[in-house]
Formats: sequence, C-alpha cells, structure tokens
Amino acid sequence: MKITIAGAGAMGSRFGLMLHQAGHEVLLVDGWKDHVDAIQKEGLKANYNGEEIVVKLPAVLQSEVTEEMTSDLIILFTKAMQLESMLTDLKPVIHDETKVLCLLNGIGHEEVIEQFVPKEDIFIGNTMWTAGMEGPGRVKLFGSGTVAMKNLVDTPEAKANAEEIVEVLNSGGLNASYSENILFAIYKKACVNGTMNGLCTILMSNMYEFGSTTTAHLIVENIVKEFSEVAKSENILLNVSEIVDFIETNCYNRETIGLHHPSMYQDLIENNRLTEIDYINGAVVRKGQKYGVPTPYCEFLTALVHCKEQILGAK
Ligand code: NAD
Repeated sequence: MKITIAGAGAMGSRFGLMLHQAGHEVLLVDGWKDHVDAIQKEGLKANYNGEEIVVKLPAVLQSEVTEEMTSDLIILFTKAMQLESMLTDLKPVIHDETKVLCLLNGIGHEEVIEQFVPKEDIFIGNTMWTAGMEGPGRVKLFGSGTVAMKNLVDTPEAKANAEEIVEVLNSGGLNASYSENILFAIYKKACVNGTMNGLCTILMSNMYEFGSTTTAHLIVENIVKEFSEVAKSENILLNVSEIVDFIETNCYNRETIGLHHPSMYQDLIENNRLTEIDYINGAVVRKGQKYGVPTPYCEFLTALVHCKEQILGAK
C-alpha cells in the first residue's frame, strides 16, 4: 500500500519505518527542514531496540508536496497544533480514495480533519507505542505497543476500510485492533495526559514524585471529574474512580514508568517547545463551555502551562 506519514517526528518515523520494513511504499512528509534534509541525505537513523539501523526512506517538506505524491492512506502524526497546517499543505494529494488515520494524543482532532477530508474517510484512534527524537534524522525506538482505531462514521463500508487499515498496520507488527469503543479509549488516554503531562510540567517532577505528594489524589480526581462530565455530554461514560485508580497504579509505579517525565515535560522543559495543552485540558475547557460544564481545574492548568511556555520563550 502507498502510505504517507504526515508528521514524521518520533512517532511518524516509528510507524513509517515499521511499515516500510513490511514492504509498503512509505513517504515521510514533515515541516522540520533540518530533519527532512538529514533523511534525504543519509536516511532515517534509528536506535531500534538497541540496534543502530539506517533506513532509506523518501522524505519531503510539507510545503513541497505536489499532486503526484498521492497515497492510499495518510497517517497523521504531527503535534496537535501543527495538524491544520499539515492538512492544508496536503490538500493537493487528498483525493476521493484517500483514507486518513489520526493517532495524535488529545481530543477533538476530527473537527479539524473534517474540514479537509470527507467524514467517511476519517479514522481515529490512539496508540500505546512510544518513540523519541534524538536530533534531525535520528530517532530512538524502544519497547512495544498497540494501536486501537475505528472509522469515524458508522457505515459498513467505513468499517470495512477500518478493518483493512488494521490489517495494514498489523503487517508492520504494530499490534492494531478495531475498537468499537474508541472514543472511550481516546478520552481515557486524554485523562492520563490531562493530569500527568500538565502537572509534572508545571511542578517539574516525574510522575512518581508527583504521585508521592499528599495532594496528588485530590488534584487528579478533580481533573478527571471534569473530563468525565464533558465526556458524558458526548454520551461517553468514564468511571472517575476507575480512571484515577488506573493513573495511580500505572503512572506512579517507580519500577515501570513512574520515574519518567511525561512528553509535555520533555517538550517544554527539556526542548523549549510549545505544548499540546490546548488539545488536551484546553479542549475540555472549550467543550465544557459548549455543554455548560464548569472546568476550573483544566482552565487553570491550561493557563499555567501557557504561562510557563511564555516564561521559557518556547517555540
Ligand atoms: P514529535 O515532536 O517527535 O514530532 C512532531 C513534529 O514536530 C514532527 O513534524 C517533527 O519533525 C517536529 N519536530 C520534532 N522535534 C522538532 C524540533 N526540535 N524542531 C522542529 N520540529 C521538530 O512528536 P511525536 O512524539 O511524534 O508525537 C506526535 C503525536 O503523537 C502527538 O500528538 C503526541 O502526543 C502523540 N504520541 C506521542 C507518543 C510518543 O511516545 N512520542 C506516544 C503516543 C502518542
């Protein structure tokens, strides 16, 4: 299958590399010139589970995408704030048969994608794979993961297309599955990101350190309650105590991931980059305003993260 990876940072590179290894025709599209130049010149370099590999993959700057670069499937892996400009640059290659899969963290991306792609060709999901950038043209890919996804529109044809995409992802070893309950899964992951990401970034702590404080439980519970109330307005039922328990059991465990800094911390504190806060807690605030649900914790956390971005001069 011809596959375009739109946003070939850490995660896009992982998916591109794994699908290329499975024999698919992969094109990387990205907006970071140094990264694209490095891949064009020397290939994509990856520390792949401890092994150094170099993969020759075609890469193009998103501003240089042309009509003939069409593909059957576009996998979106920008940061949330880059999504709209990526889709704008991809307009020449989005045609009647193009399927678009979005695996970004955060909620509500389909509202942006719908402006560029018919609803029946949009597929949404989330992933437990991880990846990290080590510099232009270079990524670090460790461990294993899964993908859960579904068609946005409930028609038999869209479902069949979703199942075909699942098969394609599985041909690359990406452990994908079709999930009827994908909106629940997206909200559940957003609850993890909506607590750990912003809080550890503002408090400059890892998840274990935050979880060891006497106030962590109350703060996390209040944020998850806001996600849950907003989700309820969209007929998605989140059990607050179950999700808080999930976060406390998994994120604070120092034997597994507790000593890690969440990705937002890495973006802002380590790399001085703008964050996805507007598409996680900020999205809950916007949805709360729409549905008449108060979201003071999410609003305050979003504002604090923006303060921090400005103090640090993040770009
Ligand atoms: P990323 O930051 O690695 O890449 C996103 C875009 O930013 C790419 O276009 C990339 O080229 C660009 N970029 C990266 N570093 C840059 C730099 N120093 N200067 C200029 N541009 C730069 O993002 P990602 O981690 O691949 O995440 C993509 C999406 O997937 C996000 O929504 C994220 O939340 C989600 N996600 C990430 C992970 C993970 O482990 N990284 C896991 C699950 C979901």
